[in-house]
Amino acid sequence: MTRDPGEDAIGTIRRDGRSGPFFDGAAEGRLVLRRCEACGQWFAPDAAGCPDCGTDELTWAEATGEAVLVSWAVAHSRTGHTAPLALVELAEGPWMYARLDGVAGPHEGLPLRASFVHPDDGESYPVFKERRR
Ligand SMILES: [Zn+2]
Repeated sequence: MTRDPGEDAIGTIRRDGRSGPFFDGAAEGRLVLRRCEACGQWFAPDAAGCPDCGTDELTWAEATGEAVLVSWAVAHSRTGHTAPLALVELAEGPWMYARLDGVAGPHEGLPLRASFVHPDDGESYPVFKERRR
């Protein structure tokens, strides 16, 4: 497998107890988010509870993987590699941070779609590519 040029900028990703299902989904090419069954709201993968109804029992559910770009920055590593880091708004509503892949001209509202990187070391994770209509 070729080395991801952005890898040095963010380091190897390791799961913690709460994010396990997120990375299991990523390994299978699925974007999974937290959802509150009681009120139907979607939340980012790191959400701990639903602020609307107060439950801390969120389930995991598969999202479409569609998103739009909200903002972005380019992280520079010591080795000179760059990794565009974006804040995206998912079609289901939550915002999350993720890397961009091959987006030549980022701009606010750019349609994106999740795709998944499977590094040799560490967890699979989503990146977002430009979505062509
Ligand atoms: Zn709720």
